[in-house]
Amino acid sequence: MTDLRIISTEGTDKILEEATVQSLAERLRGRLVRPGDGGYDEARKVWNGMIDRRPGLIARCAGPADVIGAVRFAREHGLLVSVRGGGHNITGNAVCEGGLMIDLSPMKSVRVDPANRTARAETGLTWGEYNRETQAFGFASTGGVVSTTGIAGLTLGGGLGWLGGKHGLSCDNLLSADVVTADGRLLTASADQNPDLFWGLRGGGGNFGVVTSFEYQLHPVGPVLAGMVVHPMSRAKEVLRFYQDFCRSCPDEMVAAAALMTSHDGDPVAVMVAAYIGDLAAGEKAVASLRKFGPPLADTIASTSYVALNTLFDAAFPYGGVQRYWKSSFLKELGDDMLDIVVARSAKFLSPMSNVLFFHLHGAAARVDRDATAFGLRDDQWDYDVISQWHDPAESAGHIQWTREFWTAVEPFASGQVYVNHLDAEEGTRIKAAYSQHNYDRLVALKNKYDPTNLFRLNQNIKPTV
Ligand SMILES: Cc1cc2nc3c(=O)[nH]c(=O)nc-3n(C[C@H](O)[C@H](O)[C@H](O)COP(=O)(O)OP(=O)(O)OC[C@H]3O[C@@H](n4cnc5c(N)ncnc54)[C@H](O)[C@@H]3O)c2cc1C
Repeated sequence: MTDLRIISTEGTDKILEEATVQSLAERLRGRLVRPGDGGYDEARKVWNGMIDRRPGLIARCAGPADVIGAVRFAREHGLLVSVRGGGHNITGNAVCEGGLMIDLSPMKSVRVDPANRTARAETGLTWGEYNRETQAFGFASTGGVVSTTGIAGLTLGGGLGWLGGKHGLSCDNLLSADVVTADGRLLTASADQNPDLFWGLRGGGGNFGVVTSFEYQLHPVGPVLAGMVVHPMSRAKEVLRFYQDFCRSCPDEMVAAAALMTSHDGDPVAVMVAAYIGDLAAGEKAVASLRKFGPPLADTIASTSYVALNTLFDAAFPYGGVQRYWKSSFLKELGDDMLDIVVARSAKFLSPMSNVLFFHLHGAAARVDRDATAFGLRDDQWDYDVISQWHDPAESAGHIQWTREFWTAVEPFASGQVYVNHLDAEEGTRIKAAYSQHNYDRLVALKNKYDPTNLFRLNQNIKPTV
């Protein structure tokens, strides 16, 4: 073993002596992984295949004590830190170049308390894993639409999902969180304990500490009525017009998404996906107009489990080295002029894996007071995403440019807001819009209190002012 070159918080080189590195390894119950160790390449991989960063050290945490040990070590030695939950963020902020990556992915325990309808979940879990545990008891909390997304990053940024109309965002389902703050203490944040921190964790991203576990509210869920109706791309404009009207008349129990994409058979298609969370007969009535419109080429809407619903989009977003670039905004309206642009550009996808998505935020998620949580974008509106996916890294520049041009053409019609979890890495200028102007000063005050030296900076960063 030799001394280790590592990157400091300021981005400069540092040397850690072997004995110092060993002292961290001894603090951990989990493994400390270095370049060249078995499992190093696997541990630094995330969902976006474009991210190829090499941390100086990876602390594969086995529990809160490991997180405390890693945070204190980083603090003592002034190290650049990144925090990995499910590894799904498009920016790859979970993986740092040359610093200490605090990897929560081994931490996957869940304890469901059916009597009190709560679940305590560690932050290495994905939604697929969490849902399996809670559905065994007939419960769920609002989570992401894809099963491989991590509960941690998603909840901390807000959390849009199929249960949002009925039960609010993921962060609205949060009852408490255990957090290791920048000074290496483990605090509980809830309505009663450290309520300012609790407010900030519900939408403020990973800015305030490393969350080791969440306590969620559970709701009885299932079976659900869900599936997709598929139309030819030639009808995309009519489909999206209908989709807007359909969303506007949706009861809280229903959430609907739409996508312009390429089918498994290689056909360009316009798809609407709906999920009704409640009485199945009432659901049949609520989806009747959706099934009738067109009529569609295919209709897969049927009674299914919430776990199965959570995998509906998985095949469209596979793991395995796929290169990705993603740009997003919120839209308050899907007007004709905007649809003309979306439809024309979607006829020229550069890759059959690329797509354009609309996801409706409404109902309970839109009724929460905009000051009640750090997630302040509580309007009835659509999260809209231009998602490019391709295999060959040599083609990256073309796909990135195509995505940016698409998004730029639509931007004049957007609300000026954007979902923080869908921001790209170079969008520092849109961070205030993502955290919402009216909440931003309060978030800065919180950052000054809990992380004045900006130890947790590899995120959509709220810069401290002290
Ligand atoms: C295919 C796909 C589908 C998606 N679907 C949805 C969706 O349905 N709804 C939705 O709301 N969003 C969705 N997203 C966006 C998603 O919310 C973000 O990508 C989110 O950051 C993922 O969280 P993660 O833990 O998997 O990511 P990571 O990349 O591991 O983490 C992202 C960031 O979160 C912070 N973080 C992670 N864990 C912790 C922790 N324990 N403590 C403190 N900070 C932490 C860190 O700053 C980290 O850089 C989707 C993304 C993808 C790629």
